[in-house]
Order: sequence, then C-alpha cells, then structure tokens
Amino acid sequence: MEFTIRTSKDRDLLDVTEEVLRAASKGGVKDGTCLVYVPHATAGIIVNEFEPNIAHDFTQMFERLFPPGDYRHNMIDDNAQAHLKSGFVGPGVSIPVTAGRLDLGTWQRIILCEFDGPRERRVIVKVVGK
Ligand code: ZN
Repeated sequence: MEFTIRTSKDRDLLDVTEEVLRAASKGGVKDGTCLVYVPHATAGIIVNEFEPNIAHDFTQMFERLFPPGDYRHNMIDDNAQAHLKSGFVGPGVSIPVTAGRLDLGTWQRIILCEFDGPRERRVIVKVVGK
C-alpha cells in the first residue's frame, strides 16, 4: 500500500497520520508492525507531536544542524543540506500494531519531513503480522 503527497514548500512538515491509518487498515492485521517509509533521499519520516510551533522548532533545529555551507554535493544539484537532513532523520519508522490499531501515543503523529520541495512524495505503508 502506498499514497502520494504533493508538498508545497521547500522545507515543510506534514501530518500524514490519517493517510497512513487508512492505508494500514486495509491489510486486516491485528497484531504486528506497520512500516512507514519514504523512498526519497531528501525527505524523511518522524513520529512526534504535530502543531505549528513544534513544526517551526524542528525546522529551525534542522537549519542549525545543517546550515548552508560548502558541501561537495552542491556541485551536483545544490541540495546537500536536504540530503544530510534526510540522512539524519531517516527514511521511515516502524509502529507496533495491537488489536488492529497503531500503537501511537496521545500526542504522537506520523510526520513527513520535506527537505527539498516542492515535490511529489511517495509514502509506502507495509503492515506485517497476523
Ligand atoms: Zn542531490
């Protein structure tokens, strides 16, 4: 199962929880693991609270960790910062599935991190278990 998201900004965080829940529910798995994965080198997936202030804080943190600089990859397509952020965050997360539901905490959401948009992003959702 997968879905696509069109991002609208260069850097952005998007709550994709509802799309993931919809995709994950199709497998009928009651007990197992849900993998959420983006097949992209300049995007990532995190699980965290999602509200505008923390989204802003995350974006600021990424900029502080990977500020503009003299990166070698910029000689190729000028997006080294986006690759480094993606590598730091990682391309996916695994979430336990219990009694047919994703074990997300009260404040946890599944968040797509766009580091080099706007682009169309694929989100792959695989649920394994019984
Ligand atoms: Zn690149």
